[in-house]
Amino acid sequence: MLLQEKKESEKNRNGSIIDSDIWLTVMQDGYDCVFAIDQSSRQCEFFHIGEWMGNVLGDVKTEYGDICKCISFTLIEEEQEAFIDQSHIETVLKEIEENGSYVRTVHVEGETGRIAKNIRIKRLPGESRLLCVCVDISTTLDHDWLTDEFARTGFLEQARHILKELPDDVSCSLVYTNIKGFKAVNELFGNQSGDMVIFQARDMLREWMKPLLLGRLESDHFVILVRDELLSVENMETLSHQTYKEGNKELHFDIRLGIYRITDKNVSISHMIDRAKLAENSIRDDQREMFAFYDDKVRENYVKQRVLLSDMSGALKVGEFEPFYQPVVDTMTGDIVSAEALVRWQHHDMGMVSPGDFIPIFENDGKISMIDHYMINRILDFTKERDKAEKKVVPCAVNLSRIDFYDPYLMEHLMKSFSERKDIPRFIRIEVTESAYADLEKNAMSYLYEMKNLGIQILLDDFGSGMSSLSTLESFMFDIVKLDMGFIRKVGVSKKAEAIIESTIKLSHALGAKVTAEGVETKEQLEFLRTNGCDYIQGYYFYKPVPEKEFAKILDSTDAAIISAAR
Ligand code: C2E
Ligand code: MG
Ligand code: MG
Repeated sequence: MLLQEKKESEKNRNGSIIDSDIWLTVMQDGYDCVFAIDQSSRQCEFFHIGEWMGNVLGDVKTEYGDICKCISFTLIEEEQEAFIDQSHIETVLKEIEENGSYVRTVHVEGETGRIAKNIRIKRLPGESRLLCVCVDISTTLDHDWLTDEFARTGFLEQARHILKELPDDVSCSLVYTNIKGFKAVNELFGNQSGDMVIFQARDMLREWMKPLLLGRLESDHFVILVRDELLSVENMETLSHQTYKEGNKELHFDIRLGIYRITDKNVSISHMIDRAKLAENSIRDDQREMFAFYDDKVRENYVKQRVLLSDMSGALKVGEFEPFYQPVVDTMTGDIVSAEALVRWQHHDMGMVSPGDFIPIFENDGKISMIDHYMINRILDFTKERDKAEKKVVPCAVNLSRIDFYDPYLMEHLMKSFSERKDIPRFIRIEVTESAYADLEKNAMSYLYEMKNLGIQILLDDFGSGMSSLSTLESFMFDIVKLDMGFIRKVGVSKKAEAIIESTIKLSHALGAKVTAEGVETKEQLEFLRTNGCDYIQGYYFYKPVPEKEFAKILDSTDAAIISAAR
């Protein structure tokens, strides 16, 4: 019987739902075939044959073994033999007995890459026959549920195919994206808006990059294959700076692009993605451009990061990490009233490594807590020892990372050692940055409250550096707000920045918090801050961060009157 006739007879088989348009419509979407198998004769009766299966079967075979053979010829080489082996009716029956159904996923080489087919066999209810359904599942596997763009597997497969076909004179790149502050979008606007931001990013990528291929790996990370001619600075800058609008709310967000220029098509697509991602990771927060190309520098940097990570534990043991102390002075008198402890790493090979180079790496890797714990111990040892010797002591602020609050061992340990002495606020203070604070969930936040209840002062670090929001000031009773040095640098340069500083000082005072200005380097900045009632100054104008011994000397030589009075 010819295939067409077979189809007609299926259609007219009986007046049941099988004839209906609904059945035919459903079957159009990815169903390759549906047939019943008679267990004893092994003859099959087809209810539906899709285009692919039609081609596979040619002159319709009706014997189960022949059908399996026909299917096996179309499979990718490594699956052909295994499929014949495992599709024997005995194997099928055994699996149905044990698991209720027989299921295999096989692959065929399609025009645009590999396609996955799912074969399921079950018992037909009330009959001795079995029902076999063969479905194309590549779409489900390869596509992202939210955007319906390619997911990782689909992207890898398609990219391989496109690159193979691409003429040699067309140069292209693989781009990896990251939406800066995406977590904050979800935090401030809710997950639904987060999804809208993802759609907007996708649409913008389509508009400005006209990608040869686009996929979403996860969250805010898209990958695209794009012609190099479209990667102009103008295109990238326009694409990178976005505004999301919802009702009367507006949010600016940046799409960062890490770019890997494809010079060797034999490099695997996953490696290309890794390299584009490294390039994206190399974009620093203080950098203006929102894009970076993968090059030797990015690679060396990555190697350096790996070295730093693997050297950390050893370095802690041999004492390569040291706290430096930067005195903070009273704006009016210039007396030292406190200090900030800042970690320094004297690396045995690389020399002095600045915290900006290793802290983000340790934060990403979850290792920062070891450093912060060490710093707190060192500061407590230093201040308590001086106190015991009746020398001048000022409270020293330590920087805690967001990660620290999620380390119950560290937190319990800290709470225990903090509650041992009633006068602990004289020795230590805690600094958290606004972005770290914004990310704290309820449990983590409770530690901050506990510290505050012990009388330890909590400082809001780098206020004004990122997505500052007034609700941060309102939601927690910070003792001191630290104005970011980015603002202080604009004193005498920008009237707007000056107005913001002035009003932030007033606002903080109104909320019962004191204000420290960070990074004060000039007399002009100091005068401006004095005039506007800023309480404390931290900056090179007075003191740079210094090693412990030197800090001790500074304390010994300065007037202890204020501290004695505070006791
Ligand atoms: P931060 O907490 O905002 O610290 C202030 C930074 O500004 C320090 O940089 C300090 O040396 C620098 N600074 C202070 N006054 C001036 C000035 O007048 N001019 C200029 N140009 N810079 C000034 P540093 O020591 O490189 O630390 C960078 C960041 O690393 C810190 O920013 C803090 O976020 C982080 N950090 C430092 N130590 C630790 C630590 O022990 N634990 C954690 N988690 N983070 C730390
Ligand atoms: Mg700080
Ligand atoms: Mg700071």
